[in-house]
Amino acid sequence: MIEVSAERLLEIGRELADGGERWHNHVLSPDCKLNEREQCALIVEASDRSEVYVTYSDDPMMDVGRALATMVHGADPLAAADSETTEVVQADSAAVTEMMRRAKDFAARGIHWHHHILFPECVFNPHPGDWTLVFEDPETGETLESVTIDKPEQDIRVTETLFFSQVVHS
Ligand SMILES: [Zn+2]
Ligand SMILES: [Zn+2]
Repeated sequence: MIEVSAERLLEIGRELADGGERWHNHVLSPDCKLNEREQCALIVEASDRSEVYVTYSDDPMMDVGRALATMVHGADPLAAADSETTEVVQADSAAVTEMMRRAKDFAARGIHWHHHILFPECVFNPHPGDWTLVFEDPETGETLESVTIDKPEQDIRVTETLFFSQVVHS
């Protein structure tokens, strides 16, 4: 992994997006099972270059994480949440429905939770070639997974919206 500043990480994200390259990001909290350090980490994977960039900080850097997620997934998850408040957003799969049930319970009790969207080419994906959504239960230590062949657009939108809404409410 190549360590860079948060500003540089955003620039790299823009370069990759502008160049139409395959890339994606990760937000890793200190308690995350994918995180090797006791700090917050933001990761950008440039799959076509086989390079992984990382920024570490004691600050959660949620703004940068949100900006990168918006570049990767195409729409600001919170803007989508604001404009669709009348719509009941349902998860597609039973696994993600269970993740969201737990996420809402944690949010109501002020407990931070997190998830991962693992692209088929992601270096962290335990099911390479498939899409894997991972939810790390902060209380039980369990890891819930949803594995699909096709990109789970709806489940991504649902989980991203809930995840980033934690910033607003905390
Ligand atoms: Zn994690
Ligand atoms: Zn990845």
